[in-house]
Amino acid sequence: MADTVVVVVVGAGVSGLTSALLLSKNKGYSITVVAKHMPGDYHGEYASPFAGANIVPMADEAGKRWESETWHELKRLAQEIHRRSRDLATDAGFPAQTFSSAPWYRGLFDDYRDLPPADVLDGYDSASEYTGVCINTAVYLPWLVGQLLRNGVVVKRGILADIVEAKALGHTGRPASVIVNATGLGSHKLGGVRDPALYPVRGQTVLVRNETTPMVLCSGSSDGPGEELYVMQRAGGGGTVLGGTYDVGNWDTEPDPNVASRIMARAVRARPGMAGGRGVAGLSVIRHAVGLRPARRGGVRLEREALDGATTVVHNYGHGGFGYQSSYGYAAGVVELVGEIRRQRAAKL
Ligand code: FAD
Repeated sequence: MADTVVVVVVGAGVSGLTSALLLSKNKGYSITVVAKHMPGDYHGEYASPFAGANIVPMADEAGKRWESETWHELKRLAQEIHRRSRDLATDAGFPAQTFSSAPWYRGLFDDYRDLPPADVLDGYDSASEYTGVCINTAVYLPWLVGQLLRNGVVVKRGILADIVEAKALGHTGRPASVIVNATGLGSHKLGGVRDPALYPVRGQTVLVRNETTPMVLCSGSSDGPGEELYVMQRAGGGGTVLGGTYDVGNWDTEPDPNVASRIMARAVRARPGMAGGRGVAGLSVIRHAVGLRPARRGGVRLEREALDGATTVVHNYGHGGFGYQSSYGYAAGVVELVGEIRRQRAAKL
């Protein structure tokens, strides 16, 4: 215990929890996770509970590592955990009209295929289909916390005004050598970071009890810019997420009833059977929600920064609308940076 490297992870969204999970496989680290919001909370500043969350790779060819690595792990989890306990994800194919005709991830999924024109939704040019997963975030985030507790990680609440405060928050009482900053949009105003490149992309959704598969996700809609169409049934009684919006720069966390009406209308037009053919009146609403995707000009910040001679911050934030589908890839990147810091320290001793 006395010779372990003290690591404090700030943030308990999917980025912080997955970083802590991969770090906790190394018994040489004493890890504490500290966050203002925890799984179970719903707050506009906390993006993770609001995600669909499905897998539609968004990185370009150069950045494909993050999503490829994550897909292999999520697929393993879906096969080994979900199928047994039915609590993580549901397999489904869905048309993704959003992307280029020859995306790099064609080869990533076992059954990726272009759909014939007859199967393309009205108003769209093309579509593709593959088996992915849809993560039930209400089950998956607490599952991550459970894995951390099993691995000896201490998880606690705390609100930081400055990232330097994390240095004194490790449960061992010794100062942290490494701070992992996974505060998402919080890094916009967190002292010691205050990243002006971060901005919100507001996502409004409606969660309903109705069910329908496979998932559907479209590049946009005729209802105007920032108005999307997606329908994602979550596993294990998680309901179906109807989306949504992609509203760049909007910090408003209150659901807009007019936007909600359009979201529901688009969803039942695409999937009339979901509402028993009764249109919006056939939907059974669980809740209306808004989450802010933590987007960043220049992309995700995954890098190390010296805080002082004894402590280094490893940043892992700015995952926009792809935090789940890239979570294991970026967490592996965190593990590499922390390992590098540890080796350099050892070499100096
Ligand atoms: P967050 O989940 O926001 O967590 C930040 C953490 O930092 C919280 O615990 C917070 O309390 C803590 N924190 C912040 N500031 C402080 C502070 N000062 N002191 C202490 N703690 C602090 N992604 C996908 O991969 N697939 C999808 O289908 C998908 N769909 C989405 C749909 C919607 C509507 C939205 C909103 C997002 C979607 N996303 C999706 C994106 C995904 O949700 C985010 O990329 C991801 O949740 C970001 O996680 P994070 O851990 O970086 O940040």
